[in-house]
Amino acid sequence: MLRLPLRTLPPHVAATLQAYENEVLAEPDYPARVALAKQRFKQRNTATNATFREIRNTLGEMCAGARRCMYCEDSMADEVEHHRPKDLYPGQVFSWNNYLYACGPCNSPKQNKFAIIDARQQRIDVARKKGDPIVPPIPGATALLDPRVDDPLDFLMLDIAGNTFLFVAIPGLPVVETLRAEYTIELLKLNDRDPLPRARREAFHNYRARLVEYVSKAEAGASQSELHLLVDALQRMGHPTVWQEMKRQRTLIPELNTLFTQASQALTW
Ligand SMILES: [Zn+2]
Repeated sequence: MLRLPLRTLPPHVAATLQAYENEVLAEPDYPARVALAKQRFKQRNTATNATFREIRNTLGEMCAGARRCMYCEDSMADEVEHHRPKDLYPGQVFSWNNYLYACGPCNSPKQNKFAIIDARQQRIDVARKKGDPIVPPIPGATALLDPRVDDPLDFLMLDIAGNTFLFVAIPGLPVVETLRAEYTIELLKLNDRDPLPRARREAFHNYRARLVEYVSKAEAGASQSELHLLVDALQRMGHPTVWQEMKRQRTLIPELNTLFTQASQALTW
């Protein structure tokens, strides 16, 4: 997961979304807002709704590679995901800043699960269970990392040197940052879904192969345009977090350290 390049919606789309939000906020109480927001979102979040078509297009521009999921970078993003779940935060069901683009395997287990960090620096799960009264969740900062706001690389580290390709919280972070990193890994099942570590390992091998190719072609005197094609191909490869981590952790892995010394310009890719 990487910090997202932010985009703004075209003005007419933003205005329609605001009107949708106002409609929800005009409801007399919280339970009515929850019910209306969910019903209206289901109605409007369709391929035939012009506003949501534009929202999906804009979210697609913010995704890595071939519209990869903003959480796992693996599957195609095809679901408009609410960072703050619609069951709990009806006032943000039609908020652009609350939208991400995710894949089904990330979105499905998440559902309306959500946790906040309270003033005592504790993680409190605020998801409403069946039969619970429909009341607003207690206030607090989000535990789940939000790639619109947070730089996930400030919290998470990919274990390349140990060859597990699992995400871990960066050792030594303050309590809240560690809680947030661990909650994000757990909620999105970033390590539990078997294909993900395998896909990251494969991405690592592919990035490394490209870098080796670049170094040998550069040494053999390849033209700038030929080298540029290689860089361009590398920058469009999947799992870009793996590449960012290869740069960041190069000193831990002698082979990478040598390659990045031979092609130090690769640190800017
Ligand atoms: Zn995903």
